[in-house]
Amino acid sequence: MTPKVNRRTKIVATIGPGSESDDMIAKLITAGVNVFRLNFSHGTAEHHARVAVRIRKQANIAGQYVGILADLQGPKIRISSFRNDSVELANGDRFRLDLNLGEGEGDIRGVGLDYQELCSSVSRGDTLLLDDGRIRLRVDDVETSAVDCTVLVGGKLSSRKGINRLGGGLAAPALTTKDLTDIDSLAEVRPDFVAVSFVSNADDIYQTRDLLDQHKLAPAIIAKIERAEVVADEDTLNGILNAAAGIMVARGDLGVEVGDAQLIGIQKELISRSRRMDRVVITATQMMESMINNPMPTRAEVFDVANAVLDGTDAVMLSAETAVGNYPVEVVASMADAALGAERQSVARTSRYRLDRQFTSAQETIAMSAIYAANHYSNVRGIACLTESGTTPLTMSRLSSGLPIFALSHQSETLQKLCLCRGVVPLFFDATAFDHDSVEARAIEFLLDGGYLLKGDSILLTKGEIMGQAGSTNIMKILPVS
Ligand code: PGA
Ligand code: MN
Repeated sequence: MTPKVNRRTKIVATIGPGSESDDMIAKLITAGVNVFRLNFSHGTAEHHARVAVRIRKQANIAGQYVGILADLQGPKIRISSFRNDSVELANGDRFRLDLNLGEGEGDIRGVGLDYQELCSSVSRGDTLLLDDGRIRLRVDDVETSAVDCTVLVGGKLSSRKGINRLGGGLAAPALTTKDLTDIDSLAEVRPDFVAVSFVSNADDIYQTRDLLDQHKLAPAIIAKIERAEVVADEDTLNGILNAAAGIMVARGDLGVEVGDAQLIGIQKELISRSRRMDRVVITATQMMESMINNPMPTRAEVFDVANAVLDGTDAVMLSAETAVGNYPVEVVASMADAALGAERQSVARTSRYRLDRQFTSAQETIAMSAIYAANHYSNVRGIACLTESGTTPLTMSRLSSGLPIFALSHQSETLQKLCLCRGVVPLFFDATAFDHDSVEARAIEFLLDGGYLLKGDSILLTKGEIMGQAGSTNIMKILPVS
């Protein structure tokens, strides 16, 4: 007999028309989704609230903690619409972005745009990328209210597609009027995570926090890193990481702005920086894109997921694959498989243990010592943390290990947020219901009953002397499972 195998890497799946029924949600949870993403770029707030209720219900039925991430649209700059919904652009065509053209007035010669700063943000010679980089334009001439371009890479361009500038620089304030309305609606959704799109600086995060506070909501805020300027400036990036609970490596927009070759190093740097700063990190976009239409991933996609896992990401994300794709359940299963394959590699299990670092609290010291001890004592089958705020399991999970971190808590908000943390298994356990002398035995019994441990194993346990108090972890023990 072996205990349950837990995948350490978490899967975030975007919900959409292809996956929002009760039945599909249940299947996706079984296939391995840890967090569902509600994409506020599509659908109404009322609809998202209804889907959130379904997710909570199905998670309950499955007896699992499943998180909900509300992803705000943010100031994505888009072209307006064409008379016939799309045009076919050929290489070498002239194409004009014209602030004077309204909705439905676009055609093969040009299209409108609601971004008034366009003409001051671009210069002759710039490359503009539309529809996630599928269409490329070169800026030839900048007028007072229009920009003349030549099509470098053509194709079908349909209404309302996004536009980016290679190198960044097309930006509007992070929270749009729509985002503010959507935040108002979040009282219904009660998300565990809120993602802020096109973050420019830490203030965007603080502002979001204030607005959420006004609704008495305390979700973890995820900053989407998708602007070239942000990754180019270390202080800005660190400020954002300090302000947020985590980040998303939003490769869709970021990749378009910096180019994929640059993105390779940026992904690695963003992941390791997040872990160093005790933040969670989601790697997103086009991870298994071909599975929108195919029942199997390409080998390159399997390796892309695996590489993100080897880079140390907490979670990998699916977008259109689960929102509108034909194989939502299969893609989650394929992603889970790829992640497990990567997790078997020794680099994913070992760590350099912050060897060069001074710890700043008893809690961090215990967390680091626990991982070191657990990784080096072969009898240890897992780490059990009795936790209130979730800080200790979060800190532990910043270091690589092959051992599960069982976060035992009676705080459901804490457990929900731990859904995103690599290697952490959130489990409801009310330590305050037991007295000091019996709580450890009860915790072990609980894990044994759940099939997480076997008799004869050892477990490493951390807790605070004063139970039920956040931030008080100061004890680490190695206990036999009997
Ligand atoms: P999006 O964000 O899917 O909302 O655009 C993710 C990304 O840009 O990668
Ligand atoms: Mn994006």
